[in-house]
Amino acid sequence: MTGTVYLVGAGPWDPGLITVKGLKALKKADVIIYDRLANPQLLNHAKENAERIYVGKSSDHHTHTQEEINDLLVEKAKQGLTVVRLKGGDPFVFGRGGEEAERCMEEGIPFEVIPGITSAIAVPAYAGIPVTHRDMNASFSVVTGYERKEKNEPSVSFASLARATETQVFLMGVKNLPYIVEQLRKHGRAGDTPVALVRWGTKMEQETLVGTLEDIVEKAEERNFRPPAVIVVGEVVRLREKLAWFEQKPLFGKRILVTRAREQSQSLSEKIHELGGESLEFPVIKITRPKRQAFLDQSLRRLHEYDWIVFTSVNGVKFFFSRLRELKIDIRQMAKAKIAAIGPKTAEALWEKGLLVDVIPEEYQAEGLIESLRHHVKAGDKILLPRANIARKILAVKLAEMGCEVTDADAYDTETETGNAGEIVQGLREGTIHVITFTSSSTVRNFVRSLQTVEADVTSLLKGVQIVCIGPITAQTAKESGLKVNSIAKEYTIEGLVEALKQLP
Ligand code: SAH
Repeated sequence: MTGTVYLVGAGPWDPGLITVKGLKALKKADVIIYDRLANPQLLNHAKENAERIYVGKSSDHHTHTQEEINDLLVEKAKQGLTVVRLKGGDPFVFGRGGEEAERCMEEGIPFEVIPGITSAIAVPAYAGIPVTHRDMNASFSVVTGYERKEKNEPSVSFASLARATETQVFLMGVKNLPYIVEQLRKHGRAGDTPVALVRWGTKMEQETLVGTLEDIVEKAEERNFRPPAVIVVGEVVRLREKLAWFEQKPLFGKRILVTRAREQSQSLSEKIHELGGESLEFPVIKITRPKRQAFLDQSLRRLHEYDWIVFTSVNGVKFFFSRLRELKIDIRQMAKAKIAAIGPKTAEALWEKGLLVDVIPEEYQAEGLIESLRHHVKAGDKILLPRANIARKILAVKLAEMGCEVTDADAYDTETETGNAGEIVQGLREGTIHVITFTSSSTVRNFVRSLQTVEADVTSLLKGVQIVCIGPITAQTAKESGLKVNSIAKEYTIEGLVEALKQLP
């Protein structure tokens, strides 16, 4: 049976700007054929075994001709595969989606169009420019700035265009800016008409240049302004002075490395994104079942004996309870135990299991926990610590000193993941990574270890970059590893870390 082809608009770049329907199609696709202007992060939503084909075109270099792309769509659909053709912005706005649809129609291949948010409107919006405003214009036009070489006549009639709408939005126009400006002037637009060029709109690198028809060409040359950019001509550009919102966000312009384990990186990434930054995930830790599982199991089977169970991480909680389930041990076995958690996130994870914690320290680290527990435990208490294999021993040691009988059991292991170290080293060399976050000592150690597989001199690699740590212990480890720490969270939580990020100069 023939598969369906979905022509899906990806939006301008911000991965949140795809439609719900587009995302659904993406999730079920067998093949995704995507462009340079479609954010590749969107592919993370695809099925793991989906085939991903890049047919990106940059303005002067074509990896695939349009004909080849059309062939590819047809070929894959005829194999019975569900095909998503993912295109930047909207597929039918200068996206050649029309040609792809025509070809599907000719071949009898079922297709659907899932419109997208076009850069023509969204990119100005992210620069604080509404394409219409009741006090300024009643219309806008979206115009190609690209002239097809094979045509003898210009594609755009500037004589009509200059008068037809008060605002013009040009796509693909950077190279032809001098021509566009000259034509608009020639056909009656005043020299002081405001113009904005917005490059890589909705992306961390968004850059806006404002001028007038008189001086914009010179300004763009001075700045060596490169595509892709949207050009807006008209009075509405003035509104940017009041309305620029995206570029004012606290983390705008910052690409921030998140080193936590893959399963945990999402919450931090989302917060960074909400604040206008871009997160780059580089999970240096892999969390697995403990190798010493038998020891954990032994303690779980004697769960009823413990007076205290002390959790020092969300992962500890997660692995503890999933192992209880696997062993079919009823949670009531721990009915008499008091529960301590190292911080609010761990406490929350326990509350999700229906357990209210008895003790939570003021300082969310082992030292704080020791101080708090000192007032609660008594000699002879049996204490279970379900922890990471690499956790610091101080907690177990101090509790033992208080006369407690401590079982320090690995609930999970952490391993170094080297994943995309090559890509990260390159980013650091090119200065496209601005901040690195560390949420534990092990992320620091694994990060360094992981980079060293590619580049021996990590210290000089990190020269221009800012480092933010979740707390003093992590910061200490960073310093011992030869890293310069710029900021330490005041509250040792992800929220605290995000606050520290916001305060960075
Ligand atoms: N179908 C797309 C347009 C494709 S033509 C849409 O609806 O947005 C490619 C042109 O779109 C680029 O030359 C540039 O002018 C514009 N463009 C697309 N994404 C952009 C972005 N994130 N920032 C600035 N311009 C962008």
